[in-house]
Order: sequence, then structure tokens, then C-alpha cells
Amino acid sequence: MTRALVTVLAVGLSATTLAGQFSLVSVEQEIEIGREANAQVRKEVPEVRDAAANQYLRALGQRLVQQATGPKYPYSFSMADYREINAFALPGGPIWIHRGVLHAATNESQVAGVLAHEVAHIAQRHAASQLTKGMMANLGLGLLGAVLGNGGGAGAAQAAAGFLANGVFLKFSRDDEREADQVGLQLLRRAGWDGRGMVELFEILQREAKRNPGSVELFFSSHPSPQDRISRLQAGLRPGGTRDTKQFQSVKARMLKMTPPRTMPRE
Ligand SMILES: [Zn+2]
Repeated sequence: MTRALVTVLAVGLSATTLAGQFSLVSVEQEIEIGREANAQVRKEVPEVRDAAANQYLRALGQRLVQQATGPKYPYSFSMADYREINAFALPGGPIWIHRGVLHAATNESQVAGVLAHEVAHIAQRHAASQLTKGMMANLGLGLLGAVLGNGGGAGAAQAAAGFLANGVFLKFSRDDEREADQVGLQLLRRAGWDGRGMVELFEILQREAKRNPGSVELFFSSHPSPQDRISRLQAGLRPGGTRDTKQFQSVKARMLKMTPPRTMPRE
């Protein structure tokens, strides 16, 4: 490690020790990066434009957000018109869930469990730590210095554009995934849902993997195996909380009547 790098890292550390976590990206920068990324996603991903479904999704999401700790991110919830069971979080707040999750789920707590996992990624600032790792691994000191020095989001946003093109943000570490499960389970329970919903969705994924491997491939490529996740979560599970609502069943019935969701294009 060169002396210059040590200096830059020290600046980064002193700037973020309050958060208790090493990050070269401020919350403001993270939000800016996520805003740009979300604009890009909106151009590329077909969105479900059904007022009732979107309103329902936002209501579920907001219940979880109220329980989230950490910075006050501008969380948003959108539905991609894709059939594959998947969801993803962008830095600083935007969350997307595939319509396929609502088709596969048999009760509300399962959908809330997927959202809780994504809210946890954001609340725990996993994107910021991925970005920090990416910057340290891939970028020259010049850019690192510029990002730290300019105080705004422009440098970081520019760097992020490059990472997003490589899908860096959508890949969290295994530890981040496990933490998102644990923290997500707590959010799910505190927001009043039955924590078993989260495990049930993993069981649906396992069944789906046997029946139709293509529909879950994406999920498996970016997440630990459902069996591993089920075993880790099981210890923290206690019955209690909401499992299902009439709203979920009516939104699901509504979506089953719509034009079927698309297959996500492969790279
Ligand atoms: Zn995840």
C-alpha cells in the first residue's frame, strides 16, 4: 500500500467512523448514485403500471421502512413486469420487485419478507461498502481523491455509472446477504408480519428450481442457496404476526388476469 493511499484511507475513515463502518461514500452521495441508477433502470425495465398494485406495494414497503434503523433514505418501491422470482435494491433507497414474486407467493408475509430483505440491504448500507470495495480495487487514486474532495455526488455518481454497467451493485457479498436476511427478518416481525413468510418464500424458490430452473437462475446467481438461508433463519423464528390479507389475494388475482409478465432478457 502506498503512502498516498494510506492518507486517502485515513481521510475516509475519519469521515465515517460515526457510522461505525468504513465507507468512502457519504449517505448523500449514495442517494445521488441511486437516483441516477434508478433513472437508468426505469429506461430499461418494463414497469407494472397498475395503480392498485403499486399502491399496495408501497404500503407494504412503508410499513417496513418505519421499522428500519440507519439513515433516513428516500425509499421507493417499484414493480418490474418480469416473471422471474427476484428483487433488487439500488443504493440509497430504490427497491424493485419482480411481478413473478407476487405470482409465486401464496400469502402476504412472503412478499413482505422479500421487501424486508431489500430494505435491510439499504439500511445496512451494503451498496456503500460494495462501492468502497470497488473503488479501492479498481480505481486510481485520482478519482478516489476527487470523490472525497469535491464533497458532492458528481464524482461518486460518475464512478458508480461504471460499476453499474458491470452489475457490481447487484452483487452483494455472502455476508451481506446473510445480514440482509437477519435484519430483514427483524424488520418483518417488528412491522407485524409472521417471520415464517421469509422462509416460505425460500421453500417456494427451492420447488421452483426443480420445476423450472430458468425462472430462478438469476436469484441463485446472486444469493446463497435457499437451504443455507432457511437453516440460518430457522433459529430466530417464532409463530405470530400477520400471514395474509384480503388485499394481497385481491392484488394477486388482479395480476393473474393481466397480460402475463415478460421473461427477463438475458445478457
Ligand atoms: Zn440480497
